[in-house]
Amino acid sequence: MHVIYGGTFDPVHHGHLRLALEVSERLGNVPVSLVPCHIPPHRGQTGATAAQRLRLLELAIEGEPRLSIDDRELRREGASYTADTLRQLRGELGADIPLVMVVGTDAFAGFDKWKEWQKISGLAHIIVVRRPGAELDPVGEPARLLAERGVGNDTGSEAGNIEALSREVSGRILELDPPWLDISATGIRERIGSGRSPRYLMPDRVWVEIQRMGLYGACPVKNF
Ligand code: ATP
Repeated sequence: MHVIYGGTFDPVHHGHLRLALEVSERLGNVPVSLVPCHIPPHRGQTGATAAQRLRLLELAIEGEPRLSIDDRELRREGASYTADTLRQLRGELGADIPLVMVVGTDAFAGFDKWKEWQKISGLAHIIVVRRPGAELDPVGEPARLLAERGVGNDTGSEAGNIEALSREVSGRILELDPPWLDISATGIRERIGSGRSPRYLMPDRVWVEIQRMGLYGACPVKNF
């Protein structure tokens, strides 16, 4: 099973990292690949460059063998589209390996705005992780897709639901409800920008590097 978890990671924080690990463990300690996007099609400018976000991610996952980084979207020219990434991965993995994409409910709520969204579920399974406060429009396309392709949630037979992802290589949607840390990259950027510390919201190594590089308005600190 190949699992990807995409995001802006601007910057990566403990919410992202805990979620990636929870998903890995629930699926049987499978590796999870973090996929930072280059120019997010649905968003404006990022606070750090692609290379800086990548550097922070590398520091964040150091020493955790279940997590890795796939920087293919950063190496691609122009906008990152999930459909292109999944198509490329499917080509590399061949037809028999389940491909799984992890998204939060906030991201999945706008899924029908993604490029080629209808094709995405043919290319991969989707794990939708419940984000408190982010609800799907009950009559929207994402909710309809979930009703059509959902394999249940993790309050019932989690093993059975997860097993369903292994039986097919794509096309199913699994809802998971792991503990959600109330941390957002936006909150972290605001905190740093207003001179407050984001310590303990992200690995110390990441915060040290943010300061060293003077990102998000942090005062550059010398001698680290
Ligand atoms: P921003 O505040 O800049 O929008 P973010 O913290 O929400 O950033 P993103 O990089 O946009 O992070 O999100 C990437 C993925 O991580 C999304 O699927 C999102 O749902 C998920 N995510 C964001 N915050 C958390 C968190 N605290 N816990 C678990 N997953 C999260």
